[in-house]
Amino acid sequence: MMMKDFDKESITERAERLDTACTTLSENYPNARLKLRFESPLQLLIASILAAQCRDERVNEVTLELFSKYRTVADFANAEMERLQEDIASIPLFRRKAATIRSCCQTLIEDHGGEVPSDLNALTAVKGIGRKTANMVLGNAFGIPAIIVDTHVLRIANRLGLSQESDRDKVEQDLMRLLPKERWTRLGHLFAEFGREICKAPKAKCLVCPIGRLCPSHKIL
Ligand code: SF4
Repeated sequence: MMMKDFDKESITERAERLDTACTTLSENYPNARLKLRFESPLQLLIASILAAQCRDERVNEVTLELFSKYRTVADFANAEMERLQEDIASIPLFRRKAATIRSCCQTLIEDHGGEVPSDLNALTAVKGIGRKTANMVLGNAFGIPAIIVDTHVLRIANRLGLSQESDRDKVEQDLMRLLPKERWTRLGHLFAEFGREICKAPKAKCLVCPIGRLCPSHKIL
């Protein structure tokens, strides 16, 4: 049965197991990094909004031109809606995302002087910015440790028995308890690469998994 060999694991043992897994994955994916291209917190915020249900490569193609047209929060806040929609039209859900981008930037002007705040509560208080996007910006644009629980992190955390939760916020809390802060942001990059290549949904490649010996789900899926 799943978890049979890991049932009696203490929190300390689980943390050590995750630490070993991260070290092994770091060796296997030394160049793991965020794929979205950005040069400022604002650009990463916009790219993150565009990246929902869209490949990062497509987002990068679109933002290459988008960021040369819209350079400031005010540019997005004052954008003419039809024009902004046209500029991101090759992105899924572009109408809704254009509205989100403009309204987020209007709020940033009204509440934060046109700056992207480097604070989780302030970011998530902005309508249209969820916890995942906020953590993405904090961890990657501001260098503030943050665990981004995307679909890869959620799936792998469950399979590795690091969290039994399906709620992303609870998974984030479980992982935060297990991992030192300095590894939080890196975890997301490593699990994203690992999830795309080996621990895939729906079928994991357990037989070639570099951390298989650390995993209670090995060969079961
Ligand atoms: S052993 Fe299988 S389920 Fe476990 S982490 Fe590796 S690929 Fe994923």
